[in-house]
Amino acid sequence: MKKLSANGRVIVQGTKDYEEKRQIFNKGIQRFPSVIVLCKTEQDVTEAVRFARQEDLEISVRAGGHHIAGTSVTHKGLMIDLSEMKEVRVDEKQKVAFVQGGATLGDVDQETQKYGLATPTGTVSETGIAGLALGGGLGYLRAKYGLTCDNIVAANVVTAEGELIRVSEEDYEDLFWAIRGGGGNFGIVTTFEFQLYQVGPEVLAIDVMYDYKDAKQVYQKLDEYLETAPNEVSLNTMMMTMPPAPFIPDFLHNRSVITLTGMYDGDPKEGEELIQSLRDLAEPIVDATAVIPYTKLQSKLDAMVPPAANFYGTSLYFNELSNGLLDELSTLLGHAAFPAMFQLWELHGKMNEKSEDENAYSVRDAKYVLLVDVMYEGGGQKEACVNWTEDLYNRLVRYSYNRASYMNGVEPHEDIIEQTYGDNFSRLQGIKRKYDPHNIFRMNHNIDPTKKKPVKE
Ligand SMILES: Cc1cc2nc3c(=O)[nH]c(=O)nc-3n(C[C@H](O)[C@H](O)[C@H](O)COP(=O)(O)OP(=O)(O)OC[C@H]3O[C@@H](n4cnc5c(N)ncnc54)[C@H](O)[C@@H]3O)c2cc1C
Repeated sequence: MKKLSANGRVIVQGTKDYEEKRQIFNKGIQRFPSVIVLCKTEQDVTEAVRFARQEDLEISVRAGGHHIAGTSVTHKGLMIDLSEMKEVRVDEKQKVAFVQGGATLGDVDQETQKYGLATPTGTVSETGIAGLALGGGLGYLRAKYGLTCDNIVAANVVTAEGELIRVSEEDYEDLFWAIRGGGGNFGIVTTFEFQLYQVGPEVLAIDVMYDYKDAKQVYQKLDEYLETAPNEVSLNTMMMTMPPAPFIPDFLHNRSVITLTGMYDGDPKEGEELIQSLRDLAEPIVDATAVIPYTKLQSKLDAMVPPAANFYGTSLYFNELSNGLLDELSTLLGHAAFPAMFQLWELHGKMNEKSEDENAYSVRDAKYVLLVDVMYEGGGQKEACVNWTEDLYNRLVRYSYNRASYMNGVEPHEDIIEQTYGDNFSRLQGIKRKYDPHNIFRMNHNIDPTKKKPVKE
């Protein structure tokens, strides 16, 4: 095999580390790349792209490897692994973080907080920043400062031609628009530049657990709260049956609950008053709301992420909690055929104050997003799990906002991709045709450059 670069390591089947490096977060994805290139520099990435093209190998790009659809792993092609490119550098004066494509959210938060700064990311520290940022990025700063993708101010991108370019509002403006929400379709981002804001070091972390039997009331009251919610608050709920895990108190084992987690980004004293009613949506089972370090909040949910599990997932946006949807939400756990986490996150504030075509991320009017992660044991259960999850999607889609789904939490179904991007889809297709006409970057939520829009009756 030709040596690909001075710095990167080439790993093939049967050699040391191959098994470890081909594995990603979702253990249900078992694919075997012919070559894994463990990149250390931007040049390694350009060389890997050129090599793959020369050898006609399908390319996949792995950053944090957390997308449940497993689009970071190709079968038999060449996997460009960025996981060792994790450097984060802060320009305190400009309030910009330079973040390499393989960094995790934890890497970003740890470094930026040294300066009392942060950029909006997500809620679990081991998630990769690259996939999250390219597809949106929903975290506890979304209402105040927008999505992660809204805060990309520039990026270094390796194109389908294997060239390294810097995209920003001034240079390659079309590509800059497309990477902010359009996923990995347009090139490989080796370095992001993110806008930073003063955050923390301590923040008011909202953390209340309710009994699932109160689901309807909790959601009705939450919906009322959101009518006047300040942009300092962003809130996530999760419905699940608690596992009998050692780090969970015995009295919660196998209990069906709704957790309400979130953050108030402002003076904690003022915040306490403004979030008081959230602690009283029903009779709480546990209330662990407290002022804690921002970095602690950003890794608080890590322990809840099941290790080494097989997943299948889906997602939908909603713009109202209708009675029909509330009935569904309050019976989800009872009907679940598999262990599952159902997360309903509210969307308001800065992320929704942008227009639908400000960048590629198009969903700016929805009030909630549902993220469903379903777990199955062993390959034998996969088909039943997929069918069950798709049935659920089909049941809920009637309540959805424009049949749109969060790209970072859904399988890459063609129709879902097109429905979600809506009017932005044809613009994305045009940019794809310009920069990647042969669809070299297709292991993602693919904007197919050749796809014709179906004629509407
Ligand atoms: C435990 C867990 C918690 C999560 N929490 C949140 C959350 O709080 N908020 C939220 O918004 N989402 C969350 N997500 C979803 C998350 O946004 C997606 O899984 C996202 O894709 C993760 O990015 P990654 O780099 O780890 O993904 P990967 O699986 O490595 O990549 C995902 C896709 O992006 C492409 N890609 C990756 N890096 C690059 C790059 N540098 N250039 C071009 N293309 C690239 C890949 O090829 C692939 O198609 C969570 C997921 C998990 C599993």
